[in-house]
Amino acid sequence: MARFNLHIIIIGGGISGIAAAWELRKTGAEVTLLESRPRLGGRLTSHHPAGSPTPFDNGPHLFLSTYTESLKLFRELRIADHFVFPYPGRIHVIRRDGLRGNLGEWPLFAPFNLAAGLVFFNLLSWKARSRILRTTRELISSTLPPDQSAETWLAGRSESEEREIFWQPLIHAALNAPVNAIPASHLGIVFKQGFCRGWRGGRLGYATKPLDELFGDRVKEKLESAGVQVRLKTSAWGGQLTQNNPDRITGVFVGKNEVIPCDEVVVALPPWALAEWASAQFIQHDGLSNSSWLQPPHFLDEWQANPIVTIYLWADERPLLELYTSLPGRSIGWVFDYGRLWNDRRAPVALMLEMQPATDLWDTQIPGIRSWTRSHFPLDSERIFADLFSALPQLSGVRWKMWKIIRERRATPLRPASLWGILAKQTTAVSNLYLAGDWLDPELPPTVEAAVRTGIKVGKLITGKE
Ligand SMILES: Cc1cc2nc3c(=O)[nH]c(=O)nc-3n(C[C@H](O)[C@H](O)[C@H](O)COP(=O)(O)OP(=O)(O)OC[C@H]3O[C@@H](n4cnc5c(N)ncnc54)[C@H](O)[C@@H]3O)c2cc1C
Repeated sequence: MARFNLHIIIIGGGISGIAAAWELRKTGAEVTLLESRPRLGGRLTSHHPAGSPTPFDNGPHLFLSTYTESLKLFRELRIADHFVFPYPGRIHVIRRDGLRGNLGEWPLFAPFNLAAGLVFFNLLSWKARSRILRTTRELISSTLPPDQSAETWLAGRSESEEREIFWQPLIHAALNAPVNAIPASHLGIVFKQGFCRGWRGGRLGYATKPLDELFGDRVKEKLESAGVQVRLKTSAWGGQLTQNNPDRITGVFVGKNEVIPCDEVVVALPPWALAEWASAQFIQHDGLSNSSWLQPPHFLDEWQANPIVTIYLWADERPLLELYTSLPGRSIGWVFDYGRLWNDRRAPVALMLEMQPATDLWDTQIPGIRSWTRSHFPLDSERIFADLFSALPQLSGVRWKMWKIIRERRATPLRPASLWGILAKQTTAVSNLYLAGDWLDPELPPTVEAAVRTGIKVGKLITGKE
């Protein structure tokens, strides 16, 4: 708290940069938040296409009631009232053969609230249910190997029945990644921290307004009223080091020639944007190679990304669905009804496509998707709509008015197996340069909670509280 006369620059106005700015403004320091896009929020954003009856999110987001740091931040930023965590929670599931069921929560202490729901989950055989209970007990009580994939770990403990109907949808929703792309240890942590903490454990929750209204407009207003200088449409592209002080950044480059002087810098970017920023970073200094400032070095180079594809459909009139429905074993993983989420009948139905097994590069596409966006309508539309209408026949007679496909090529950072178990530090070899972002939390997979935790942590590192 004593370092009140500093100027701190935060690069990146996603939720990790927002959390860092909020934490650091408490020190009395001068805080500047730089965001390259016209709005704050990063991946927590929405689109406003011309002619569409409502905006739509760049991808449906679910929040867990155990996202404690995020919920605390949302309360402080005065947006918490717009998040709802239905209690007792339930997930509507429609099996491939059309049979429907609810994975419901019971009014018991966690994890018994979910365990009881599972016992009564009639879409799985008794044997499958008891195998899941045994496996979750093992998940909760032991430390899982950081070098084995969740898929391999589950293969020895489960059958295809529960993998399709329980594990894959759950991992898709809670970890934002295909089951072969995460270490088993992450699954264990998510279970312990996400579903077994607190009285009620992890209930699923959602935002009742478009994400950019909350994280763009309201958060910006709140940050500015607290004294943070927010500069939108301002892309940072490097840092200035001087010969006299080679291990400190003295300024950040923005625009064509502007250098913003600073005492501390927080780079709150996903790995691909950090790599881009870093490639220009030490331009006035010969001694440091591009990645020698990162700890561990070369950690950045190997990161990949996981794509998420969502189709939004609007109609003037249509039946309302459940808040969210899991469609295991189909081309669509989840269906979200924004009419229910936002309580607005004009809002769209969102089809979140099933995740493909993880492949190797940031740029790797889900086959066919690029051509989808080029063509007038998805090439695979026949299969997708056949799957949709067989699961939700009440939608088959609807006259759809408009559709949009959002393909987030880099939806979440994906840690390749070569980096499993390796911890990245948020401090760097440059003494006043810190990192934040959803990929840097030592425990959680890339989620909103992970991003917020790293933003808060960087605030504590700078103020010397940690
Ligand atoms: C479709 C989709 C669905 C998801 N679902 C969930 C979910 O259900 N639950 C969940 O917890 N998480 C979910 N996530 C993940 C979650 O959105 C992210 O983990 C989180 O928002 C990441 O925040 P961040 O601040 O780390 O990064 P970002 O949000 O990527 O923020 C980085 C910011 O930096 C800006 N920037 C980039 N380069 C520069 C530069 N040079 N100068 C200035 N600014 C720059 C970018 O414009 C961006 O605003 C989902 C993500 C997507 C895309």
